[in-house]
Amino acid sequence: MRILVVEDERKLAAFLKHGLEEESYSVDIAYDGETALELASQNAYDAIILDVMLPKLDGFAVLAQLRARGDTTPVIMLTARGTPEERVMGLDLGADDYLPKPFHFEELLARLRSVLRRSSPERTVRLQCGDLVLDTRARVAYRGKEEIPLTPREYALLEYLMRHKNQTLSRTLILQHVWHPSFSGDSNIVDVYIKRLREKIERPGMPPLLQTVRGFGYRLHEPEEHSPGTPSNSA
Ligand code: CA
Repeated sequence: MRILVVEDERKLAAFLKHGLEEESYSVDIAYDGETALELASQNAYDAIILDVMLPKLDGFAVLAQLRARGDTTPVIMLTARGTPEERVMGLDLGADDYLPKPFHFEELLARLRSVLRRSSPERTVRLQCGDLVLDTRARVAYRGKEEIPLTPREYALLEYLMRHKNQTLSRTLILQHVWHPSFSGDSNIVDVYIKRLREKIERPGMPPLLQTVRGFGYRLHEPEEHSPGTPSNSA
């Protein structure tokens, strides 16, 4: 499990990193909001611990941008100003939990376990990328109305890509999340599965969803919406 801690108070950030690592989480730290967004786009975290009061971009702005780009990583917000209004604002923006400072580390751990539990397969029932839809309860994929038969591994790969759509994911990251956290074998297996997935989800004449980002990895790309009835932009 990989956690991003976003906290500008260096002592608290170091304390959280140390404590979480003792609990066998891998931890990255961002000291400001902009770095947090950058790290979150480069890595697929299992959860983000996000302070509200931050330099550059505050925690609310970071959360809003994460959700706006389709990142559904569970977020626990930390704040010294635990007013009910802020709590509501955080939850409205899509925070999964909220912890007023000062807090006991044990309580943070309990909440982290709780959001991680909730985020495991049933976090979102329906994931969508264009007309590609994944029903995570039934574990079935559809392209339009057509059901796509997938093996369990193909399904796991597609779910991972869809949970992080529009993000470039490296082969190593895909291996660690879809195969095993400590998998260090041949990453060509990812290419093999991507090829199989492409044969199943892509449709001739339609823009490709699963893109190769040369030198980096793969990205599931959400096509731009052209809703019927919307006037075109051409003057
Ligand atoms: Ca702070």
